[in-house]
Amino acid sequence: MTTEKRSPLPKSKLWEELRLKAELGIHGVAITKQALDFVRPAELAQEQVHNLFEMDFFVHDFELPSGYDLPGGISVPFRWNPNSANIIDLDGSRTIITNKGHEVAEVRFHKRPGFYGLKTSDGQDMATIGALYRHRALFFAYSNECSYKDRGEDCAFCNINHTKDVYGEKKGIFWKTPRQIGEVAAAAFAENAVDHLTVSGGIIPERRELEYYLDVAEAIQEHTGLQDFNGTAVVAAPLDLRQIDRFHEAGYRTTAMNIELWDKGFYETICPGKARTSGGWDHWLHALKYAVGVFGHGRVRSNMVAGIEPKKKTLEGLEHLAAAGVVGTFSVWCPNPGSELEGHRSPVPEWYIDLAAKTTAIWKKNGFTFQQVSDCNASNDSLQHDIWRIEDDLLPSLQESSLELA
Ligand code: SF4
Repeated sequence: MTTEKRSPLPKSKLWEELRLKAELGIHGVAITKQALDFVRPAELAQEQVHNLFEMDFFVHDFELPSGYDLPGGISVPFRWNPNSANIIDLDGSRTIITNKGHEVAEVRFHKRPGFYGLKTSDGQDMATIGALYRHRALFFAYSNECSYKDRGEDCAFCNINHTKDVYGEKKGIFWKTPRQIGEVAAAAFAENAVDHLTVSGGIIPERRELEYYLDVAEAIQEHTGLQDFNGTAVVAAPLDLRQIDRFHEAGYRTTAMNIELWDKGFYETICPGKARTSGGWDHWLHALKYAVGVFGHGRVRSNMVAGIEPKKKTLEGLEHLAAAGVVGTFSVWCPNPGSELEGHRSPVPEWYIDLAAKTTAIWKKNGFTFQQVSDCNASNDSLQHDIWRIEDDLLPSLQESSLELA
């Protein structure tokens, strides 16, 4: 999971990088045509794959890179905002972030993995089936549909259905078969690009969800030859909790059920589908605790979208979950295009840095290992994972998978 070489920068500099990462996540970054032509996403640099949510500020019909590294090794997902004050430009053969004409940092884009250039046995581009995340994580979004939409009850921060509508099949948004997932997992493991994978999607009726996840696990095992493929099944809290046992028996090492918000009042308003259709907030919490009994301490995760409810509520939830053996975590709320909350604003970067530092402290206090908080998350590239890396000197120097174009 980590490389031998460690970041050469002192911790104070790494904290500065982390603040820059938070800012680039919240406000996005622009990129000049020269820089984009130079890094050539989908050829040299790893390109974005639109799975689940469009995270850019605007829908686009050209390729954009998936992410880049800052000098100390902190990785930043590329979030395009042509109006951002931070602009990635070309300086000779260096790609740099500038702000008001001043250089802020040099950046290195992520190299396109080999399996992105391969096809599945039925002719699909593998890059459209599974996305490689930073730090050796593979992510499968089997579908971009959420059935809550039919009743107008999709979560107000979510743009999953909108992303499907605007990008569609030609950009790789279609229902993935278990075989396609198995083949892509095998190619990524064969390339030694990953050591963890996640299977996720929108909400589908629970019998269908269970059967699909079992078929996917079987296909991954068959194609990779791995019985334990270190997989996370991201699911809705099933009304019949015995289904959680089935996910475990199928070979998933971890599971995730995202409760999204801790305050029940906010939950009713922001997540009406989850509140009314899937057993409600209390049932989700009950299911998470049940899952710890099945998968074990530190092997169940629940995410919250932070920045909508008061911070003290989110922290209360993170504490409660951790004490029950659940890795509670959060994502930075980006008011995405097409979501009900489009046009709203996230809190400032320092708000998130503070929450991330407290989250990391909660994880450590409750006895989770770095391996556990990595395995159960789709990507261990969050601010809270980075803080753990900075504190414990786990941050790799610019990684081999960074693009060297000089
Ligand atoms: S449950 Fe909510 S967050 Fe999840 S896919 Fe559906 S609308 Fe989006």
